[in-house]
Amino acid sequence: MIAKAALQRLKDAPWLRDPATQKIFALLDGERGKTRAVGGAIRDTLVDHEREATEIDFATELLPREVMRRAGEAGVAAYPTGIEHGTITLKVDDRVAEVTTLREDIETDGRHAVVRFGWGWTRDAERRDFTMNALYSDMEGELFDPINGVEDCLSGAVRFIGDANKRIAEDKLRVYRFFRFTASHGHEQFDEDGLVAVHKAAGDLHNISAERVGNEMRRMLALPRIARTLETMAQTGVLNLPPDLLERMGTYERRAHKPNTMSRMALLVQSLGSKTVKKRWRLSNDEIGAAEAILLAAKLITDFRINEAAYRFPAHLSDAVEVAATFAGWTEAGKSAIVEHLRTVDVPKFPVSGNDLLQTGMRPGPRIGAELDRLEQKWIQSGFKLDRNALLSILQR
Ligand code: ATP
Ligand code: MG
Repeated sequence: MIAKAALQRLKDAPWLRDPATQKIFALLDGERGKTRAVGGAIRDTLVDHEREATEIDFATELLPREVMRRAGEAGVAAYPTGIEHGTITLKVDDRVAEVTTLREDIETDGRHAVVRFGWGWTRDAERRDFTMNALYSDMEGELFDPINGVEDCLSGAVRFIGDANKRIAEDKLRVYRFFRFTASHGHEQFDEDGLVAVHKAAGDLHNISAERVGNEMRRMLALPRIARTLETMAQTGVLNLPPDLLERMGTYERRAHKPNTMSRMALLVQSLGSKTVKKRWRLSNDEIGAAEAILLAAKLITDFRINEAAYRFPAHLSDAVEVAATFAGWTEAGKSAIVEHLRTVDVPKFPVSGNDLLQTGMRPGPRIGAELDRLEQKWIQSGFKLDRNALLSILQR
């Protein structure tokens, strides 16, 4: 029996009742069943998962041209973001709608799909990855479930639609999605058939673009519980992670108040090196920078150079405490003591400015910045003890 409360939740869902969403439905003949919302929004509403995304996926019988035309007539912003696959992105207020024409993938080489439009809803459902991702809702919040996915959704069974081996051969990224969704919606309990299939595919994943893999991994690293999933990824040969790192990931997530992406990135970088992590998952310089900052701050905290950590890495302190606690094996009490200390620490203020250097007769230019950096280093090394006069006395002009 389908849980009544879940179905009611869909009818009452704020994202569905949102006037912007209703406008999109109305524009695309939602009341005649020509357009339905699909995917994550439905799945997460049924299992009462909070969603931050304002983006909703729609499936429609209307052809892409027609979607563009109607949007144009109604003055709704429309972008042909993936028109070769039938996807148009519409924007109404803050609501972003990815509208994809019902399609069937008729040819796939593991990365790209050739698609054919005009097929029915069941075909559209069948080309999706997991049964829980092939659930649709009409504009009133009435569930439409052409391939019987709702029970899997409600029980947290992440199951491939059709033959898992075939579905992975069509698009190898599904291996990573299998792990991500089992962590987010499957209580890290892996479907047997899926597990056998990803194991088989493990040796053959190098062709997937690092961006796509990185995107899946990043979303996975943000979830509350992933340690068991990472272990399983390592066991099946999908991800090459050393045992001590896996253990640390487990310790971190058991102990951290709110496990998060960047702290986990820091643990990965510490073990694998920033170059490897960056290349494997195409991280941005900002992301790598943040992971490295957390590691450096954690090292300072472990060495009880608390002032220095507070001065140099103010934005990363709470993450750094959790990472330091993971490495050092601190108890909850030990961690609280550090947090308390950090709260009361008087963050020192660097006593020399560029103006001071100009006053000594230095000329404006890059030398000023370089010299300031050098003095700041000396000041930090002194444990913030050198005062303004002492620092100006070691100035190199
Ligand atoms: P999330 O909340 O993480 O965004 P989602 O289910 O919305 O979850 P998306 O990646 O946004 O995931 O994809 C939207 C929908 O498109 C999915 O629910 C699924 O039906 C389908 N889909 C996405 N990627 C694939 C894929 N690689 N293979 C098959 N179907 C896919
Ligand atoms: Mg989505």
